[in-house]
Amino acid sequence: MTNPCIDRELSYGACNYDPLPVVLVRGEGVYVWDDAGNRYIDMMSAYSAVSHGHCHPKLVKVLCEQAAALNIVSRAFYTDKLGLFLQRVCELTGYEKALPMNTGAEAVETALKAARKWAYTVKGVPKDQAEIIACAGNFHGRTITIVGMSTVPQYKAGFGPFPPGLKVIPYGDASELDKAITPNTAAFLVEPIKGEGGIVVPPAGYLKACAEICQKHRVLMICDEIQTGLGRTGKLLACQHDGIQPDGIVLGKALGGGILPVSLFLSRREVMDVFTPGDHGSTFGGNPLAAAVGSAALDILVSEKFSERAAKLGDYFQSQLKAIHSPLIKEVRGKGLLIGLEIDERYSAHDLCLKLLKRGILTKETHQTVIRFAPPLIITEEQIQSVAATLADVIAEAEQA
Ligand SMILES: *Cc1c(COP(=O)(O)O)cnc(C)c1O
Repeated sequence: MTNPCIDRELSYGACNYDPLPVVLVRGEGVYVWDDAGNRYIDMMSAYSAVSHGHCHPKLVKVLCEQAAALNIVSRAFYTDKLGLFLQRVCELTGYEKALPMNTGAEAVETALKAARKWAYTVKGVPKDQAEIIACAGNFHGRTITIVGMSTVPQYKAGFGPFPPGLKVIPYGDASELDKAITPNTAAFLVEPIKGEGGIVVPPAGYLKACAEICQKHRVLMICDEIQTGLGRTGKLLACQHDGIQPDGIVLGKALGGGILPVSLFLSRREVMDVFTPGDHGSTFGGNPLAAAVGSAALDILVSEKFSERAAKLGDYFQSQLKAIHSPLIKEVRGKGLLIGLEIDERYSAHDLCLKLLKRGILTKETHQTVIRFAPPLIITEEQIQSVAATLADVIAEAEQA
C-alpha cells in the first residue's frame, strides 16, 4: 500500500516528523479531504493554528485582495497595513506595543531578547548575568535557545551546547518561582496551560500567584499564549481565567487565520522601548500580507465569538468525553476547546489515532499517552457529538483487542 506522495516526502524530506498515513489535498471549515476523496473532521487544527477552520472565505478573500496589491516590502519601509494590525491587536489585548514576527519560536526569542535587554537597561542587572526562568515540561519552540530550556530529553539530545542564563522550575507551584528568583532574574516564561506538554492545566490561582511574585521581585512575567490564546480556552487569553495581565504575551498559531505564519510579542512601552533600530528584526515579519490576514483573523474571532463558542462547546465536549466509561481512559482535562484525553499506558494513544483516522477523525497523540482534541473553534455541537460517539466506539473496540 504505497502512495507516491508519501514516498516522495519520505525520500526527499528530512524525517523530523512521523505523520499519520493520509495525504490531504483540500480543506473547508472543520473538514479536510484526502487524495482518494475521503472526508475527515480535523480535531487537531494544526496544533490549534486553524481555529478559524480551513480556508475561511473572508480570510481567503482578504488574502487574495492583499496578494494582488502588495506583499513583501521588508521593514525598511512603512505600509498601510501594519499599523492597523498592531493597533487592533494592542486594543484587543490591552498592551501598548507589539513586535511582529512570523513563527511562534521567533516571537518567543523576541520576548527573551526583550526581557534580557530590559533587565540590563531598566532593571540594572550586571552585564551578561540575566536569568530567564521557565517551567518543566514546557514547549516554547525549537530554536537552540528555546530547546535549551526544555526538559524533554529528545528535544535537546545532540543539539548542545545551550546558552547560559536559563533556569527550569516545576510547573504549577508558585512557591518554586519565589525560591528560584534572584536579583538577576529578568523574566518568567510560562504557558497558561501546557500544550505540547500534554494539555496540563495548572491549579486555579497559579498564574495570579506567579504574577504577584514577579511584581514583588521586579521580574517580567511573560505568558506564551501561542497555543492557548485567541479564544482557544474560552477566553481571549488563557491568563484571563486568573484575571491577570502579564507584562508580556506571545501570540502565534491562530493569529495567522490558518493561512499564514503570523506571530507577535506584546508588552508595555517600557519593555518594548528597549529595542532600537537594528537591534532585532525579521525580513518577513509584519509584511502587509500577514498584517492584512492577521487583522481579518482578529475581526473574525471577535465577530464570530470564538471565546464564547470555545467555552460552551468545550464544556459540552468534556462532558461527552467524561461520559465514556472505559479502563482505557485515565483522565479528561483541559479548558475550552483545548482538551487532552489521557490513555492508560497499557494502551497505545498512537494506535487509537490510527483507528480514529480510519473512522474519519484526524488527531495526533502527544507524549505517547495523551490524545489531543483542539478542533477549529467554528465546530458545531452536532459535529462534536458525532466525534464523541465515534470515539466511544473506537475505544470500546480497542478494549476488546
Ligand atoms: C507551537 C508553539 C510554539 C512554537 O510555535 P512555532 O510556530 O511552531 O515556532 C511556541 N509555544 C507554544 C506554547 C506552542 O504551542
